[in-house]
Amino acid sequence: MENEEQKSEYSGKLFLIVGPSGSGKGTVIEKIKGKYPGFAYPISYTTREIREGEKDGGSYHYVSREEFERMIKDGDFLEYAVVHSDNYYGTSKKDIMEPLKAGAVVVREVDIQGFNSIRNLVPKENLISIFMKVSDLEDLKGRILRRGQISEEELEKRLDSAKKEIAQSGECNYQVENKWGEIGDCVANVEKIILAEIKKMY
Ligand code: 5GP
Repeated sequence: MENEEQKSEYSGKLFLIVGPSGSGKGTVIEKIKGKYPGFAYPISYTTREIREGEKDGGSYHYVSREEFERMIKDGDFLEYAVVHSDNYYGTSKKDIMEPLKAGAVVVREVDIQGFNSIRNLVPKENLISIFMKVSDLEDLKGRILRRGQISEEELEKRLDSAKKEIAQSGECNYQVENKWGEIGDCVANVEKIILAEIKKMY
């Protein structure tokens, strides 16, 4: 469907939080969710292993590769991608587009591939992208390692993806710095952007 045709169909706004693994996207969304429970926070699907401390239906629905590929065939995804050359991740079409039609504020993190797909599917006026910047790759490496449970190979894949993501950061509507130890400032900046963009809806 052409963007022009979709224009009148949606009255909500989708905020995509983009940025390298370890840049703090998940933490920012958790904080925003705590303060604004009335926004929609769609849960993506992934084939990656569930990590300690995570629960199904938290950030993700954890599904098998077979189940994910069945969902692809059934056209359930707005977008999906293989992230870090490894696992599938995908956003449910229904969980994003229905709240957007209903006029909701929708907040979701995706990787840069997801952003590139969604920017061609959601009308420009209904989409805001926020890129989470970190100081440098060494800082990022430290953050990823601090999470634990990661092999050298996985770390390399994440740093490779990070380079690609950073190269495209300028294409997002906003860039917000997440300085180590200053997550509060970062959340406040994301919140400011969301509130200013909501104001423009009315
Ligand atoms: P993690 O495994 O660390 O939770 O996430 C790995 C990467 O996948 C992150 O960059 C995250 O933003 C991205 N991701 C999470 N959900 C989705 C999604 O639904 N679609 C896409 N394309 N990427 C996602």
